[in-house]
Amino acid sequence: MKKSFSNAILEAERCVSCGLCLPNCPTYRKTLSEADSPRGRLNLMRGAMKGEIPINKRFIEHIDLCLDCRSCEKVCPNHVQYDAVLRAMRAPIEEAKGRSLLKKASLGLVSRPGWVEKMGRLYLESGLRLPGKYSNLDAMMQRGLPAFPKKSVYEAKGEKNGEVGLFLGCIARLTDTHALNAAIHVLNSLGYTVHVPQDQTCCGALHVRYGEDAVPLMEKNRQAFSEIDTIVSTSSACTAELSREFQGRVQDISGFLENAEGWERVEISPFEGKIAVHDPCSLRNVLKKEAMPYRILEKIPGAIVEALPANGQCCGSAGSYFLTEPEMANALLDDKMEVIGKSEAKIIATSNVGCAMSLRGRGARVAHPVVIIARQMGYQCSI
Ligand code: SF4
Ligand code: SF4
Repeated sequence: MKKSFSNAILEAERCVSCGLCLPNCPTYRKTLSEADSPRGRLNLMRGAMKGEIPINKRFIEHIDLCLDCRSCEKVCPNHVQYDAVLRAMRAPIEEAKGRSLLKKASLGLVSRPGWVEKMGRLYLESGLRLPGKYSNLDAMMQRGLPAFPKKSVYEAKGEKNGEVGLFLGCIARLTDTHALNAAIHVLNSLGYTVHVPQDQTCCGALHVRYGEDAVPLMEKNRQAFSEIDTIVSTSSACTAELSREFQGRVQDISGFLENAEGWERVEISPFEGKIAVHDPCSLRNVLKKEAMPYRILEKIPGAIVEALPANGQCCGSAGSYFLTEPEMANALLDDKMEVIGKSEAKIIATSNVGCAMSLRGRGARVAHPVVIIARQMGYQCSI
């Protein structure tokens, strides 16, 4: 047994096999296989870490099918930290699989978000178009890239209430720039100056997913935001990852706005109809702040804000999961689209760029909550 596994083994051994997590696990609900359940995976991982189970193709299939949605943690009566065990298993699994050139190139690219943006622009100018499963990314890039926020400082309007730093992310700067601009619009209107450090980098979530060291990325972000007390992020998955390093300093935009000053000075025009909210797993199960977007949207006069039914179920996006496990991801997205179809909502609101990309790829009218409220405050953007 490797020494580095000892904590993870102890954590896995805290599972008392009660099975309460099983009905909440999206993959178990689909396959009804114990090996695709939280309890089954904890047993498998504990066995592998102790050297009792080989890290072979079958083992990897069951672990890779996990969305890391952490629904199991939310309901576990023994508070087993499933994610901590999974994280310990990532590097050995990637070693067993062998690191492909494509994976290395992807991780290298997201570590340099400036390059991501430049390559995105070159790609759009080239007229080439991504095929099949990448077409969601393509459509979002065409919509998002032209609006990338370039300035380092966006000054508050009127009397100043404070200063914040804005986290840009790696993929969000290609595909969800309207959320970034809308956040700047709302924050400035409420009296907050927004700093956008240009030397910030990716949050490291993809590196962690592939068992790589994300510490250099966190260090770079720490330096980039060293002069800034409060960091806001428009992507809940990035907020969740950044919270590991910047706990107490980083907030999801909806959480920051809920407690922000200056609402009395802005006009919010009415919205007729229903806004259904899709809770990203990162906001619901990791940050435990799923109520925040509702409170922001409820500031819009006339808006009927409702939770999308079966909100506890992951949409299947889960970082790069929709690319690596397309069959399960599509099955979960089918379920989500079915409830969206029945919801009669004019817009689906979600706080995570990955969820938005998947839902939009299936034709749903989706926007970040901050984009929806910014539009009612005069921000020009089509949804
Ligand atoms: S993280 Fe999600 S998919 Fe993975 S075992 Fe837990 S509930 Fe199931
Ligand atoms: S709910 Fe917790 S203790 Fe019960 S089987 Fe699941 S992980 Fe184990």
